[in-house]
Amino acid sequence: MEIQGKAALITGAGSGIGRATALRLANDGATVVVVDIDEDGGRETVGRIEEEGGRAAFVRADVTNPDDVRAMVAFTEETFGGLDILHNNAGIFSVQPRFPDGEPDDWLPMLEVNLRGVVLGTFYGIEAMRRRGGGAIVNTASLAGLVGYAANPVYCASKGGVVLFTAALATLKDELNIRVNCVCPGVVDTPMVDRLREGMPASLKEAVRRGQGFALAAEEVADAVVGLIEDDSLAGRALRIIAGQPRALSETPPPAQAMPAL
Ligand code: NAD
Repeated sequence: MEIQGKAALITGAGSGIGRATALRLANDGATVVVVDIDEDGGRETVGRIEEEGGRAAFVRADVTNPDDVRAMVAFTEETFGGLDILHNNAGIFSVQPRFPDGEPDDWLPMLEVNLRGVVLGTFYGIEAMRRRGGGAIVNTASLAGLVGYAANPVYCASKGGVVLFTAALATLKDELNIRVNCVCPGVVDTPMVDRLREGMPASLKEAVRRGQGFALAAEEVADAVVGLIEDDSLAGRALRIIAGQPRALSETPPPAQAMPAL
């Protein structure tokens, strides 16, 4: 899909990867709806896009709330004439205490935002893209959705869920002209990782600082997101991005299996 002239919605665009994708898509000629629960961050992203001569608007929405998600999609249709590109990117990462310490409520919000949020966004996004005759959806999963990571199994479960949700939607390409893919980045240098560093003991902080050269810039992830939007052949795929390594695309998912009759 060519990005010039398209209408895009990006969740979690008040910071990090979402902001980088919003700036990149606006630069490439899309109109952009910036969605976040953080109003200051979201409005700052819109300001930066406008400074660079792009068109954008901010909508405050919590991706776990169906009314908010329906409203952010409706806003995009009313303001920019339709929805062509959706980046379901908002996510959270809690690291303490270490699972299974703590209480279920320390862990469940990651499933809510990272998985439920993507399902809800996709649900209402597809509804709008049907009216448009097609579209491209890119979900932000994670390397942690492909490889188990002992320190945070719930985060892995949420992101692994996004990878398989994406794969299972591959058939929408032929059925509705809607392509759903996801990015699976390793560590990315964003405020999410800065916050993790703050809570670490000094020795670990130093190890992470030394490892910073292995972190991706948010702009590199934005570039991968744009690649998935532009390549009309891709659907249901997971793109692994690790600093210093070539990008790796998962295989085409096998044709969807019909449920056996019960
Ligand atoms: P970030 O914290 O910088 O940005 C995330 C944004 O999402 C924030 O602006 C936050 O306010 C917003 N958000 C959180 N909950 C929300 C909700 N319920 N509704 C709407 N907005 C909400 O983090 P980031 O690193 O840019 O992360 C973006 C995505 O990338 C996340 O899904 C994250 O899991 C994923 N990811 C990050 C890394 C990394 O190392 N930073 C690696 C792989 C995947």
